[in-house]
Amino acid sequence: MAYSFTLHGIPVSRGIAIGRAHLIAPAAMDVQHYLIEQEQVEAEVQRLENAITTAHKELENLWADLPKDSPVELGAFLDVHAMILSDPLISEAPLDIIRKRRYNAEWALVTQLEELTEHFDGIDDAYLRERKADIQQIGERVLKVLTGTARTLLPTSADHDRTHMIVVAHDISPADMIQFREHTFSGFLTDLGGQNSHAAIVARSLDIPAVVGMSHASDLIEQDDWVVIDGDAGVVIVDPSPLVLDYYRNRQTTLLKARKKLSKLKKAAAITQDGTPITLLANIEFPEDCPTALDVGAQGVGLFRSEFLFMSRPLGAPKMPGEEEQFEAYRKAVVAMRGRPVTIRTLDIGADKQIEAIEQNALNPALGLRAIRYCLSEPKLFLAQLRAILRASAFGKVKLLVPMIAHAFEIDQTLAMIEQAKTQLRNTGHKFDADIEVGAMIEIPAAVLALPMFISRLDFLSIGTNDLIQYALAIDRGDHEVAHLYNPLHPAILQMLSMTIRAGAKSGIPVSMCGEVAGNTKLTRLLLGMGLREFSMHPSQLLAVKQEILNCDLQQIASRTKRIVNLYEPSAIEHEMEQLQAM
Ligand code: PEP
Ligand code: MG
Repeated sequence: MAYSFTLHGIPVSRGIAIGRAHLIAPAAMDVQHYLIEQEQVEAEVQRLENAITTAHKELENLWADLPKDSPVELGAFLDVHAMILSDPLISEAPLDIIRKRRYNAEWALVTQLEELTEHFDGIDDAYLRERKADIQQIGERVLKVLTGTARTLLPTSADHDRTHMIVVAHDISPADMIQFREHTFSGFLTDLGGQNSHAAIVARSLDIPAVVGMSHASDLIEQDDWVVIDGDAGVVIVDPSPLVLDYYRNRQTTLLKARKKLSKLKKAAAITQDGTPITLLANIEFPEDCPTALDVGAQGVGLFRSEFLFMSRPLGAPKMPGEEEQFEAYRKAVVAMRGRPVTIRTLDIGADKQIEAIEQNALNPALGLRAIRYCLSEPKLFLAQLRAILRASAFGKVKLLVPMIAHAFEIDQTLAMIEQAKTQLRNTGHKFDADIEVGAMIEIPAAVLALPMFISRLDFLSIGTNDLIQYALAIDRGDHEVAHLYNPLHPAILQMLSMTIRAGAKSGIPVSMCGEVAGNTKLTRLLLGMGLREFSMHPSQLLAVKQEILNCDLQQIASRTKRIVNLYEPSAIEHEMEQLQAM
């Protein structure tokens, strides 16, 4: 009888999945090694060149065949692979190895891949470190063409119950993900990967439970083993006992029922029990995210992270989107939202969001020339973005949001540049909303302590809790070693949120929240009690937050939330939070 064991990894996509393991073996890198004769060299070079061309075509075909409803990330990942494949380090260096060392094509390619990937393990930046997997996946693709072996990803038998299949792999490439997308499977786990790995991002966008970074899971788990994935806890149980299986089946049923129930709230107005209306908005990264936002009943877009237009470039496109391309993207979002407001945030690059076209060598990227600081240092680029946003405002309600502001002169310079962009558009005869509202992200602690400086200059504020917590508690938000210290309920954070919301209410300037805290249902009541009336979050969280709102009576929770904000003992805060949830 198989014995049960438990593995731990990084939880990257929520929910419970139960099914039989379907193992995916990596393409073998142990290729044949032999030296070729001098007169065969050019033929061998040609063989490798042909394989690279074929691999390129395969990527292009996958791109062209992407279903319309594919998550935008899939296309972006294919672009990254195409880019890597075109890089001379992959497309030319192995040809030189054939010429100089007379290695056969497979050996030359693997030699070059090993040399390239060797340096990746020492890189500090987690995102870049994970790009090692991209290079390996690209190498495997070319090798498969060379050796004429294609691996079958999925069972072909029609009666195999794919809906209960758990994919277990050392790593999963974007191209593999596309194939999975066409088949139903209930979850996946991989040995490699982290929060930023492709598999993790795609799993979240598909809303499929997933755990990554499991080290040796693909060695330990066998084909057809029963597997439970707890995507919330990052736990995987292999061959669970009937008792454990029952427990997870119950949890899964409860979660599914809750989700089904939630979907009935799509059209319900977000009003508290005492009749206070609350605005629920969506965070988006691309205009293509708008239909999903509308589907869950978002009343607008509270945060359009425009930097994603700069980070994921289509095949063959210029390195950065110009004014026209940006205008089209913003206009598309505005039109798609059918009259609902769209808050477009200006370029927020730096730290974890790097752009290929902009080299950033800051000593400490989180504290460097990022976001508005960068934009103000590049007026041409910033003006082009401002014009594009302004032009989109002729097609519906647009608001302009500026990230990472700490100084009055930054606000003043930004406002002056907006005026300059307006003048330029008047001169060229373009239409725009002359009264466009301009707001700032409150995401640097100094901004919270100097709110009047913002309030006197701007039309609205939006609290970016992701960065506010990072900077207030001095915790890198992407570093898993300090992830346990990232606590929105730290008394200092509660003070900062409450101060910002109160200052807005007092001065009559709208305050919204667009960081992850806004989508955390455990904090909804507290935020409502603090006076927050506008929440912006990933569309997948919106209905659960709405349910919390519908169940909340503001008068009933008022004194308790006031008490929590004035507490400085974590255990007392925890206790009061439990009581608040139970009310
Ligand atoms: C934030 O910092 O809370 C935020 C919403 O912006 P981002 O996550 O894009 O930095
Ligand atoms: Mg931020």
